[in-house]
Amino acid sequence: MGNENRPWRVGKDNFYNDKLWLKTRAKFLAKNKICKFCGDKATVVDHIKPHRGNYALFINENNWQPLCKLCHDSAKQKAERRGLDQIGVGLDGFPIDPNHLWNQK
Ligand SMILES: [Zn+2]
Repeated sequence: MGNENRPWRVGKDNFYNDKLWLKTRAKFLAKNKICKFCGDKATVVDHIKPHRGNYALFINENNWQPLCKLCHDSAKQKAERRGLDQIGVGLDGFPIDPNHLWNQK
């Protein structure tokens, strides 16, 4: 719990600069070459359960899946959009922003 807000994205503590991560990640992608979503070449290790700064979850191979960059980015965007649902999208599923394309008639 104390590590919840660890600034894992920045600075020397950045998880993605972690030596163990870089080593294990390379091995993982050597074994898992195919994107789990589309069957393309996997280049990204995705965390099935978002680690949100939890190192144990971050480094746990059981929580990894091989994805191509395209699938990773779109899956990530979808997840982030879900998180922002109440801010950006009304109950009808349309964006609240009146300037959004969908709201211009
Ligand atoms: Zn893919």
